[in-house]
Amino acid sequence: MNSNVDRYFLALDSEVWAIREKAFTGLFNEGSRAVATLVTGAAHNRPRVRAACVALMDHLADERCCESLEQALHDASPLVRRHAVHAVGCQRCKLQPLSIDVVAALIERVLNDSSPRVRRVAIHQLGLQPRDARAIQVLKNVIAESQDTGLVSRARHALCLQQATAEPPDANGLAAASWMMDRTVVASL
Ligand SMILES: [Zn+2]
Repeated sequence: MNSNVDRYFLALDSEVWAIREKAFTGLFNEGSRAVATLVTGAAHNRPRVRAACVALMDHLADERCCESLEQALHDASPLVRRHAVHAVGCQRCKLQPLSIDVVAALIERVLNDSSPRVRRVAIHQLGLQPRDARAIQVLKNVIAESQDTGLVSRARHALCLQQATAEPPDANGLAAASWMMDRTVVASL
């Protein structure tokens, strides 16, 4: 490992916020050149380094990051898992979508994560995904069954967002064409 990368990891693990912030910004500004460092850092033995690298993947991830992100969803540290759930779910921060089944990954964390905070972030992100029958079913189940009032209120909001999203288009025909056009208009705003 070269010393520049080592310096980044040392700084990302600093007790001093300003030092962590400077390293974070430095990596962010490197853009896609930082991705190899982020992949290495996502497997670092210090949770704060893993969390920072996973958080940066929210903005910089490309295909090289998919494996790291899927592992981070099951990290021992809830901080790392929380950043991983955001990084996997959040499309707004990304230049390109990841080849991950995002809805399935989020549902798995909603159902199985031991941390209420991670489950809440996963529910919130489910609401932001394109309409998906699996997401709608899980949100309805959470609303009906969960004892966590914070989770239930987020699930209600997420369900509203999911149900407000247009139905996926037909595989062929006019419906598909007009949906594609709408998407183009929305993307150009
Ligand atoms: Zn984001």
